[in-house]
Amino acid sequence: MITGDQYRERIAKLKDNVYMGGKIVDRFDPRMLGGINVMAATYDNAFDSEYEGVGVATSHLTGEKINRFCHIHQSVEDLLNKQKMTRLYSQEVGGCTQRCMGIDALNGISIVTHEADRKYGTNYNERFMAFMKRVQEEDLSLNCAQTDVKGNRIWRPGQQKDPDQYLRVIEKREDGIIVNGAKAHNSCSTYVDEIVAIPTRHMMEDEADWAVAFSLPADWEGVTIINAAYYPPKRVALHCPYENVGIGHSITVFDHVFIPWERVFLCGETDLAGKLALLFALYHRHSYTGCKAALSEIFTGATALAAEYNGITKAQHVRHKLADMVQIVDLIFASGIAAAVNAVRADSGTYVPDTNYCNAGRMLAGEAIYSEYEALAAIAGGLAATLPGEAEFSNEKTGPYMEKYIMRDPDIPAENQHRAFRLFQDMMASTWGGHKLIDALHGGGSPVIEKVAIYRDADLERSKNIAKKLGGIPFEGTTKKLTRRFPWL
Ligand SMILES: Cc1cc2nc3c(=O)[nH]c(=O)nc-3n(C[C@H](O)[C@H](O)[C@H](O)COP(=O)(O)OP(=O)(O)OC[C@H]3O[C@@H](n4cnc5c(N)ncnc54)[C@H](O)[C@@H]3O)c2cc1C
Repeated sequence: MITGDQYRERIAKLKDNVYMGGKIVDRFDPRMLGGINVMAATYDNAFDSEYEGVGVATSHLTGEKINRFCHIHQSVEDLLNKQKMTRLYSQEVGGCTQRCMGIDALNGISIVTHEADRKYGTNYNERFMAFMKRVQEEDLSLNCAQTDVKGNRIWRPGQQKDPDQYLRVIEKREDGIIVNGAKAHNSCSTYVDEIVAIPTRHMMEDEADWAVAFSLPADWEGVTIINAAYYPPKRVALHCPYENVGIGHSITVFDHVFIPWERVFLCGETDLAGKLALLFALYHRHSYTGCKAALSEIFTGATALAAEYNGITKAQHVRHKLADMVQIVDLIFASGIAAAVNAVRADSGTYVPDTNYCNAGRMLAGEAIYSEYEALAAIAGGLAATLPGEAEFSNEKTGPYMEKYIMRDPDIPAENQHRAFRLFQDMMASTWGGHKLIDALHGGGSPVIEKVAIYRDADLERSKNIAKKLGGIPFEGTTKKLTRRFPWL
C-alpha cells in the first residue's frame, strides 16, 4: 500500500496529455487539485486505524494486505466492507470518493475474462490476473471509461454514420490491437494511473469491433484527455475542508491507440460485452449505495443545521422533512446491505451483489437528490443564494453590519452562522453544486436505466402467481420460496 503523497509523486510523472481552457495543462493545475486531494485520501485512509478492517483487504492472489480499492470481492463480508468504506470516506470528502469506478470495472472483468476463457479457450483471465497483481502491488488508481459518446442515441454502434461514436477495434495485429473512438463523462481520468475501458452496452453478433475491454496508462501514446474541472468556490479567510475537494470529467479520445495483447481483456466476444457492461453497472450501483447514502446524509445534516440556526427545529414541517431525509439515507444504505447479503458467487470466485436491490437503491438515490436540494433550500431560506461575499464580512464598513445581520440564534457565534450559510451556498448555488445535482442523477446510470434493469431482472411471474393464488387461479411452480435474481449471470 502507498500513501497519498506517494500517489501524488507517481501522478506527477505522467506525460502531459490533458487539455483544459483551450490549452495543454499540467495535471497539478490548481483546478485539478481538489480531485487529486480526494483520490489521495483513499490512500491515506488505508493507514488510518479508525478505518481498520474497512479500508484494507487481504489479497486472494498474494495473501498480502492491500488497499480495498484494489480488491476482487471474495465474500459477502468484502461487499459489506466496500459499501461501508465508500460511505465513510465519502462523508469526509463531501461526496464521491472517485476510486470506485476502477475497482467496480475490475470486479466485472474478473468474471467475464474467466467466462471467455472457458467458452472460447482464450487466456484473458491469466492476463487479467497478472495485471491485477500489479494493481495490488503498486496500489494503482484506476478509473472506468465505459460511456461512449454514442452519437445518435437511437442508432446502434454499427448504424452510426461515424463508427467511432462507440470506441472500436480498427486493427488486430500479432502484438496487439489498434482502437479508435472516444469515451464521455470520464471521471478522474487526469489523475489516475490507468484508464480501464469497457463496453457501454450489449453488442449484436455483427458488432464484434465494439466488444473491447482493456487498461492502459492515462498518458499512453494517442490518448488525449479533454477535461472539465469542478470544485467548490475557494475561500479567502473562512477556510474549511469542503473547499479542498473537486473532480474532473473528460472526453477521453483514443486516436489510433495501440494496445498490447497483455492489456486486452475482451476483443470481439459480443455475448460478453453486454455482460461486462451490466456487471460494471451493478458493482457501481452497489458503490452508490455507500456514497449516495453519505451525500444524502450530508444534505440531511445541513438541513438539520439550517433548521437549528434558523430556530425552527420544532416546526412540524421541518421535522417531517428531516424524517423523510433520514429515511432516504437508510433505505439507500439498506439496499446495499441487502444486495451484499444476497450476493452470489460467480464461477470465477468473485462475489456479485443482488441486482434488484442495487438498482432499487441507486434509482431511489438518483431521484431523491432533487428533493434533498429542495429540503435544504426550503429550510435554509433565500440566504443560501443571496449571501454576500466573504470580503463583505471583513470590510471595515460592511463587516459589522454583516456580523449583526447574519445573526439568528444569539447563542451561536456569528462566524458559525456565516460558515453554515456559506456551506449551503457552496453546496447548492455554485457551479460545483449544480454539477453535483446532475452527477447524482446520471452518474452510475440514470434512474430510467435502473428502471429498465429492475423490470428486466424482476421475477414478475412469481408476483403474478401470488395474485393468482389469492384469486383462486391455477398457476405453475411455487410461491413458497423467494427468488434469487440473476437471470443474466
Ligand atoms: C458527473 C458524471 C460522472 C460520470 N462519470 C462516468 C465515468 O467515470 N465513467 C463512465 O463510463 N461514465 C460516467 N458517467 C456517465 C453516466 O453513466 C451517463 O451520464 C449515463 O449513463 C447517461 O448517459 P448519457 O449521459 O450519455 O445520457 P444519454 O444517453 O444521452 O441520455 C439522454 C436521454 O436520452 C434517453 N435515451 C438514450 N438512449 C436512448 C434510446 N436508445 N432510446 C430512447 N431514449 C434514449 C435517456 O433515457 C435520457 O433520457 C458520468 C456521468 C456524470 C453526469
